[in-house]
Amino acid sequence: MGFLSNDIEVVESCPWCGDTNYDLWGNKVRGFQAVKCHECGLIYIYNRLNLDGLAKYYENYLSQIHQSDSKANEHREKMYELEYVLIKPYVIKSGRVFDVGCSGGYFLDLFHKKGFSCYGVEFGKEAAAEASKKHQVWQGDFSEISFSEKFDLIIFRGVIEHIPNPKAYLDKALSLLKQNGVVFITSTPDALAFCCQLFKEKWNQHEPEEHLMHFTPRHFDEYFINNGLEKLLEEHLYEETPYVDIENDILKVSDAIRMKRKGEKISFRSPAFWGNMLSLAYKKA
Ligand SMILES: [Zn+2]
Repeated sequence: MGFLSNDIEVVESCPWCGDTNYDLWGNKVRGFQAVKCHECGLIYIYNRLNLDGLAKYYENYLSQIHQSDSKANEHREKMYELEYVLIKPYVIKSGRVFDVGCSGGYFLDLFHKKGFSCYGVEFGKEAAAEASKKHQVWQGDFSEISFSEKFDLIIFRGVIEHIPNPKAYLDKALSLLKQNGVVFITSTPDALAFCCQLFKEKWNQHEPEEHLMHFTPRHFDEYFINNGLEKLLEEHLYEETPYVDIENDILKVSDAIRMKRKGEKISFRSPAFWGNMLSLAYKKA
């Protein structure tokens, strides 16, 4: 996919805390440079796709990227089960679940099967149309849509790192949460991961067209605790996932450490590893 200069915007201040001081982080990938905020430590893409660029990127995202590989789909199904098990103890059976960035509604399918009422919003037109066949789904920018109802569980699965202005989405989620409702952020890259720090732009989560920033758990802890929510869980799924290959993963990481020690550039992408992927939940107490 080719992007033009008018598909790109320069992010002049940290999209999380607004600070304008940063250090360059890693090397450019396909022309995209990441930087790290001095104030809050957020790693973000400095010259990222703007709304036009993102619209272009997500137009055929479902069929071309998300659903293009049946093995990947099978793995994702397994992840849905694991992530459902994480959040299940904290939610009311048969409650109302809202999935932000619900893609084709696949994670919601599982909640539907378990007896929940399912709702979602999706930016990609193709994915939203697919999800709408099964659940009540809105298409567009979550922060700009008005909803008349409130929800017991609001999910951001592999989503918040895609959002140009993440706090607008989180604020919106808080406004839609029932008393005792839960926000579940899951399958989000964790910038504290050892592989993130070692591999930098070769980290397997560094996809600058779509992952516009890399958070640490502290970003979310501060945000939700400042808004009066209580933290329920923090997990990093790895050993139980379909992506694990422990011995080979460790060998790859040790090869990368050797390259770094010799002052060489790491020449391959990181494997799945402990700490890469974050799951968090907070409750409106
Ligand atoms: Zn910042």
